[in-house]
Amino acid sequence: MSPIQLAIIGLGKIARDQHLPSLAANPNYHLVAVASPHNKLDGTPSYPNIETLLREHPEIEAVSLCCTPQVRYEIARYALEQNKHVMLEKPPGATLNEVAGLVDMAQQRQLALFATWHSREAAAVEPAREWLAGRTIRSVQVTWKEDVRVWHPGQAWIWKAGGLGVFDPGINALSIITRILPQPLVLKDAELHFPSNCETPIAAELTLQGPGGLPVRAEFDFRQTGPQSWDIDIETDDGRLLLSKGGSVMHVDGKQTVSAPDREYANLYARFAPLVRERRLDVDLAAFRLVADAFMCGRRSVVDPFIE
Ligand code: NAP
Repeated sequence: MSPIQLAIIGLGKIARDQHLPSLAANPNYHLVAVASPHNKLDGTPSYPNIETLLREHPEIEAVSLCCTPQVRYEIARYALEQNKHVMLEKPPGATLNEVAGLVDMAQQRQLALFATWHSREAAAVEPAREWLAGRTIRSVQVTWKEDVRVWHPGQAWIWKAGGLGVFDPGINALSIITRILPQPLVLKDAELHFPSNCETPIAAELTLQGPGGLPVRAEFDFRQTGPQSWDIDIETDDGRLLLSKGGSVMHVDGKQTVSAPDREYANLYARFAPLVRERRLDVDLAAFRLVADAFMCGRRSVVDPFIE
């Protein structure tokens, strides 16, 4: 089977750190070109926007959108209008209705649309789901605390409306719990802390509820210095499961049962190829809806300005 002719749109940190190496290692793809307003990729045709790129390269079959969430919808729409398959970085858009519109378009045109959740591909997520399946869950505590200055240097878009602030990493935790816990999870309470000079929150606490009143607490904080936490701690009637390091390590009752090298983006591209060949969609908005609910119903407090 000939490789899928693909372009990357938005050549920033995640495109360079993860997408380019994953594509280079996967014979199902040929990277034809990239489009990014300011960045170019050495040795690969580079264009300032998707319109020019698709005009110059009609052979492109699929685009992978690694741009900022605020511009994702217009670019994805344009790609679908041009009959290209689309893979979306997380979050899949800036609003729920944007993504609903893309789903309709992709279905009408029989094109692949993949709303990716890279954290769901972390090594311990599926083992955790399987371990939990036969047990009664009593409580869940999510602690996702990282230093924004270390992980998002210079990313002004995160602090602009639609950039999600601390929910940019927080949605990764929500993508995991909406995969491994029984559904539906509903938002009961949320407190969002906005720096006085920013449009998005720097920290948030969420209380969710699962079936049977299952209590789920989530704490997200971008102000963490020292040790960083990407942990999900789950008490059951038959032991305690700890997912740590963003879902790549699993402990049961203190004993490590899973730890494996990172294959998150390799797995995402492995999933996208059959979606393209079979013209299918994979769009799960459970995590995105919880974030939207937190913005809709959460109480707000104003905290110290964020100075990078
Ligand atoms: P980033 O380093 O700021 O890169 C974003 C890129 O988007 C910029 O390089 C910019 O290109 C490009 N862009 C902006 N407007 C565009 C447009 N109209 N057309 C094409 N490209 C455009 O941010 P990032 O960290 O890579 O994050 C991008 C997305 O990936 C976010 O949704 C984020 O949640 C997700 N993600 C990031 C990470 C991570 O570790 N950083 C991990 C997983 C997922 P120019 O610089 O050329 O203007």
